[in-house]
Amino acid sequence: MKIIDKMNASIKEGKPFFSFEFFPPRTEEGVENLFDRQDRMASYGPTFCDITWGAGGSTADLTLDIAAKMQNMVCVETMMHLTCTNMPEEKLRDALDKLKGYGIQNVLALRGDPPKGQESFTVVEGGFACALDLVKYIRAHYGDTFGICVAGYPEAHPDVIVDDPERMKENYWKDVHYLKEKIDAGADLVITQLFYDVERYFQFVKDCRSVGITAPIIPGVMPIMTYGGFKRMTGFCKTSVPPRIAADLEAIKDNEEAVKAYGIELGTKTCRALLDAGVPGLHLYTLNLEASALAILENLGLVNKAQRPRPLPWRKAPSHKRL
Ligand code: FAD
Repeated sequence: MKIIDKMNASIKEGKPFFSFEFFPPRTEEGVENLFDRQDRMASYGPTFCDITWGAGGSTADLTLDIAAKMQNMVCVETMMHLTCTNMPEEKLRDALDKLKGYGIQNVLALRGDPPKGQESFTVVEGGFACALDLVKYIRAHYGDTFGICVAGYPEAHPDVIVDDPERMKENYWKDVHYLKEKIDAGADLVITQLFYDVERYFQFVKDCRSVGITAPIIPGVMPIMTYGGFKRMTGFCKTSVPPRIAADLEAIKDNEEAVKAYGIELGTKTCRALLDAGVPGLHLYTLNLEASALAILENLGLVNKAQRPRPLPWRKAPSHKRL
């Protein structure tokens, strides 16, 4: 089923939905563990789970394989990320054909980052320059087969974040208009980049609505789990960190447990503010870990960890070797 339809059903029922993002682990053992974790997390009823496409297309086969198993063995509505980096048209087509064959109906269409070691994004021969081209391609060649989600950036895409306030304002609005083009080309849903300043998200949604974007804009929430991870991600994504959060973390940065507990508390507060403001649902960047994401959802009353997770059909399967 398309995610947009599942979301609309939740909205109609007045029930906030939630979803979990995972990435492809590096080892076979990691993949096995991921399925166990997904099984547990899926039993709490996320509207969908998604799996990322490794930078530069580095995990293409593995991402496709995991996506197939998520949809057909973990039995959770699955969205696969797909990027244009290092992907000529025939490879994109092959990936989309496979998705269709696996019965997966949801794609997150992305340009992608440059491969490791390269400064800027370059178009591969016979490939696409931006997510907009990929959205157009999917709609032109696959009609309504897929629900298409795209990325949105409450603080603008990191490539265009500059110090000069006038130029920054111009770049931000270019990004907002460009997002509108992605929606007009056939995307039906937006998931945002992570943010820690909730007011930025609210402003972004307001600005998107002002240019006529009506698609749901789902906030992407990354619970802080480790100080190092937080610094790396906010640095890479050029995410602004409110001074109070920076100061709080600085004071506890050497205490792993305290950082984790702070991440849960902050994540809960952020999500509560988002839900109170009427967001239809929450997208959690799990980093393949369950404790923080589930603790936040439990604090919000969206899951009950005391309830024994419902066993899912694939548990009977002896192994999860590649399809
Ligand atoms: P685009 O939407 O194409 O935009 C990139 C930038 O170029 C923007 O500033 C945009 O305004 C500008 N631009 C492009 N074309 C035009 C145009 N025609 N006119 C005006 N401006 C234009 N990366 C991965 O490698 N794998 C993943 O699985 C992955 N998942 C992600 C999930 C989410 C929710 C998000 C927010 C990001 C994810 N990324 C992932 C990172 C993403 O690939 C990078 O941020 C990448 O640099 C941009 O991808 P995009 O789809 O946002 O690009």
